[in-house]
Amino acid sequence: MNLTKLQSFALLVFLLAGCAGKAPAQPTITPASPVKTQILQTTSVVPTSSPGPYLGHRLRMVEETIVDRGVADEDVLRAMRTVPRHLFVPQQYLAQAYDDHPLPIGYGQTISQPYIVAWMTELLELEAGDRVLEIGTGSGYQAAVLAELGTVDIYSIEIIPELAQSAAQRLMDLGYTDVHVRQGDGYYGWAEAAPFDAIIVTAAPDHLPAPLVSQLAEGGSIVIPIGPPGGYQSLWRFVIEDNELVAYNLGGVSFVPFTGGGIQQGDQMPAP
Ligand code: SAH
Repeated sequence: MNLTKLQSFALLVFLLAGCAGKAPAQPTITPASPVKTQILQTTSVVPTSSPGPYLGHRLRMVEETIVDRGVADEDVLRAMRTVPRHLFVPQQYLAQAYDDHPLPIGYGQTISQPYIVAWMTELLELEAGDRVLEIGTGSGYQAAVLAELGTVDIYSIEIIPELAQSAAQRLMDLGYTDVHVRQGDGYYGWAEAAPFDAIIVTAAPDHLPAPLVSQLAEGGSIVIPIGPPGGYQSLWRFVIEDNELVAYNLGGVSFVPFTGGGIQQGDQMPAP
């Protein structure tokens, strides 16, 4: 599938003041997160340039599992050919690092399938100078792919302290610049760094978090899986255009659940 075809599948157009269902209408700003957040790292070191021993695996992965499925953005493909994915997976999964599936990273979480990372990155339609917010740092791999584009500022939030810490350290060790990692509940976004030109959510909530919508710049987009935890969800792309939130359903995906207090409280918010 390519993006043009996907866009023709646009299912719903919600007015900010009148949408229903999973996309909240008036983007109600939920009070700030009760979870204590902490900025763990702001990297500013030079990236490593060695291709390493897995270059062949990486090039094959991109051709066979990403290009063949229709991802065509050259910058995204270059990033996927460059980021050393084997350094983002636990040692025991090294041999599977470039395989076409997600892998466990501990704490019940996963590093996403490479194709999904590439596709979601392409869907963000990033331009030089954009500010990007990622919810769900996990291993740091998606953040590294964004950093490898070389032209965007990246903010990434992870709710599990150990993963936030290790991802921040890994990104720093690999020299990815302009990546800001914070531990906290990503439901509430990162208000101090908003507005964002793009927001990518790599865990699946059962509704679109209103605070994320409120932190999106005009013309910005959110790429997010939405659906019941533990099963299949739909990948959505929301774009703010002329004060309207336009929603595109891009098809079935499977992500780990979006956790934390925000999503539960959000559930209890009255229907708009
Ligand atoms: N982007 C990651 C994929 C990680 S899986 C990578 O490239 O490796 C999704 C991650 O989202 C998990 O690490 C999980 O702990 C995190 N997560 C789930 N709910 C969250 C929330 N409310 N705020 C921030 N992170 C969350």
